[in-house]
Amino acid sequence: MRIASGGVQHETNTYALTPTTLADFVRDSNCGAELSGGEVIFDRFRNTGTIHGGYIAGAEAAGVDLLPLLCARAQPSGIVEQQSFETMLRWFLERLQQVLPVDGVLLDLHGAMVTQQHEDAEGAFIEAVRKVVGPELPIIVTLDLHANITAKMAELSNVIIGFDTYPHVDMHERGREAAELLIRIIRGEVTPVQEFRQLPLVTMPPMQCTLREPMQSLMQRVHRFEEEPGILTATVAMGFPFADIHDAGVSVLVTTNNDRELARRKADELASWLWELRDELQPQLTSIEDVIRFVEERSSDGPTIFADGSDNPGGGAPCDGTVALQAMIDAGFAGGVVGVLFDPETAAQAHQAGVGSTIHVRLGGKTDDRHGAPVVGDAYVRALCDGKFVYRGPMMQGVADNLGQTATLIVGGVEVVVSSHRRQCLDAEMLRIAGIEPTHRRLIVVKSAVHFRADFGPLAAHIFDADTPGIHRPDFKLINYQHLRRPIYPLDASAVGGLNIG
Ligand SMILES: [Zn+2]
Repeated sequence: MRIASGGVQHETNTYALTPTTLADFVRDSNCGAELSGGEVIFDRFRNTGTIHGGYIAGAEAAGVDLLPLLCARAQPSGIVEQQSFETMLRWFLERLQQVLPVDGVLLDLHGAMVTQQHEDAEGAFIEAVRKVVGPELPIIVTLDLHANITAKMAELSNVIIGFDTYPHVDMHERGREAAELLIRIIRGEVTPVQEFRQLPLVTMPPMQCTLREPMQSLMQRVHRFEEEPGILTATVAMGFPFADIHDAGVSVLVTTNNDRELARRKADELASWLWELRDELQPQLTSIEDVIRFVEERSSDGPTIFADGSDNPGGGAPCDGTVALQAMIDAGFAGGVVGVLFDPETAAQAHQAGVGSTIHVRLGGKTDDRHGAPVVGDAYVRALCDGKFVYRGPMMQGVADNLGQTATLIVGGVEVVVSSHRRQCLDAEMLRIAGIEPTHRRLIVVKSAVHFRADFGPLAAHIFDADTPGIHRPDFKLINYQHLRRPIYPLDASAVGGLNIG
């Protein structure tokens, strides 16, 4: 048995100004200049907490041949340049043609990619693959929990399997599930029937977190439901709200073994569970000034984390916002850390000056004027490193990554880890390589909405969702949608009572 695998992953923030190009995919994928398949992918992902890590484990356990063709991924950012998308799609299709015939295809996609010509880039990708392999060949698509799933994606794939966790700690498990289910389909043991429901609902990252209520209990119900006879798999996609497209938002899928009626009934049931939670899914935000007061007023019972999700590079934000940093400096706060702030210019300046020197910086706030102004002043260079690290926490465990040339500066009494690559601070290793042990700090600002909770959660005494400005701010009042379908909750009162399913 031969299974082809691969895909292009991107979460596109349509409010980010910088377009995403092939060079970004090449830099972030770490698979060579032509985004090689084959051994490069086995070497990079075997035994890692990733989708391809799971595909490889599932295929090897069953003794079937996995043929990885392409695994392209870029940090979330602005709209993907059309030519770059077409190039990567062409590479995938050419490599697929070369390995035919295959018995099935596993597509490793995100689900919220937007290109200059495609609002639904995954739909276009699956459609192109379908044209090559024909209508009968089974295709399973794995998607992120933040996928904005469309009817087209559901129609063109036999099964969609989304992550069940946010932070995304089940990528390996879902990849393996997809490989195992595809093998059962190819062997003729099961016949999948998939039902898709899109809800008139958009939600924001902080409350999509499956370590918090109401999502934690909801996902426990979903797992019990997947154990029921006849059900092969179920997916809850919370959607990515920073993409101004028609299909942004919440959707669900239920796949049964050849039982259309059961799939319909269960998809409606799952959609109604989500709909009932719509008010509980709205976040509460806290200002940095209030959090500084909170920390100053108590004896140290462990670090407090200020989750600066508005500037989360994991959702396409610049990662160089300065609002929280400036507030800590202005308050004369001691024991604060900002990790990780993207500013290659300042990192290079610090590397040139060397450890122990004091440099005059214009730090952060350089990408645009929506995330605070640059912090101007003297900075002490405390530590320098090359930025290379391996994820040790539960998310992306075992994957090698790179912050680029990195400097640890002390600015106005606050420690700032300054990187040359834009990375979401979701693993404590990213601070430890810069000489900072997070358990010994009072207040840590992370440019992350939720993913940091997987590794930092257990060591944090308190966590606050930040009330800061930015293009990933979880606040529908400040988002100007032009293309999103209406009415939709919570934007339109008329969406209430509007769950039109069945
Ligand atoms: Zn995600």
